[in-house]
Amino acid sequence: LTLNDLIGFVSGIVASLQPATTEKQLTLSHQTSLSELTAAFDTDKLEKVLTNLISNAIKYTPAGGNIRVILEIVDADKDTRFVRFAVEDDGIGISPEHLGHIFDRFYRVSEESMAVGAGVGLNLTQELVELLGGKIWVESEEAIGTAFYFTLPYNAGLVKKDRVAVKEEKNSVEIGVSGLIILIAEDDETSERLVSIHVREL
Ligand code: ATP
Ligand code: MG
Repeated sequence: LTLNDLIGFVSGIVASLQPATTEKQLTLSHQTSLSELTAAFDTDKLEKVLTNLISNAIKYTPAGGNIRVILEIVDADKDTRFVRFAVEDDGIGISPEHLGHIFDRFYRVSEESMAVGAGVGLNLTQELVELLGGKIWVESEEAIGTAFYFTLPYNAGLVKKDRVAVKEEKNSVEIGVSGLIILIAEDDETSERLVSIHVREL
């Protein structure tokens, strides 16, 4: 993924969520200060992460608000560089007593959020960011707004295309694990989604 690919990818996600903002007349924009980048990201996971965070911002920002998606490069040390994504809103915010629980599964802040959400989005989002080798955190102030940040190391989530080959001792037959049909028997939707991600064909 080059920088232009990444920016194009992010604008695609932003564009796809644009219709959801019109009813509340929210502004949804994105910007970057990145100048060059070549990185390999697992775009499926990245798309889910960004969609979850932007959807939350849309849901928890009252009419007329602003939502911004910002991409920046962060140098951790001379060998480690990250792309830092921010999804910022000027919505209802999250109070300090709730902030520490926000990534817990099924955790919702209020009666109102119970009416509009199941409380699984952030838990899944955190899981996905960690699968990509990154970190996610949140800063928020009640009635001021919320900013979710996550970092992805360059080349994080680079998926090996190699087949997993199992050598059978006796006759040295290679058994590839691609092309299988996998039945997931799981009654919890989030777990089902996670299992689907893990067993997906690479
Ligand atoms: P789901 O994502 O499962 O549809 P949800 O959006 O309620 O439901 P999460 O995405 O896990 O669940 O978020 C958990 C809780 O955190 C929400 O219920 C809401 O109270 C709070 N929250 C999340 N994002 C924001 C935000 N941008 N501004 C204010 N509160 C937020
Ligand atoms: Mg959500």
